[in-house]
Amino acid sequence: MVKPQAKDIGDADMLDLVDQRSRITTDYHLPRRGETRWVSRWEAGETRWVSSWEIEDCMPSFPPKVVLAKLRALIRKGLLDGCGCGCRGDFRLTDKGAAMLIRTRNGAPT
Ligand SMILES: [Zn+2]
Repeated sequence: MVKPQAKDIGDADMLDLVDQRSRITTDYHLPRRGETRWVSRWEAGETRWVSSWEIEDCMPSFPPKVVLAKLRALIRKGLLDGCGCGCRGDFRLTDKGAAMLIRTRNGAPT
């Protein structure tokens, strides 16, 4: 079996995932690898930052290390704000990232 790599994740796919997650406005409960429990409540319509482990949970076919490498690559490109070291991450799309995602949704090649 071929090992999944960060380059197998499309830039726009990852931006889209972060964007979708940032719009989830209900309470979010997710234990971090059996440790502490993080709970937050968000105002309706407000976007929020997205944690690294929640992105990892959305991409079960990729090892967390690979997901983080992809997030770091997008930070380097200026498309995402946040930290890809493996901490909470606090990911958000930058203006540049949001613009790229909109172009992609309008049919531009990725
Ligand atoms: Zn960090």
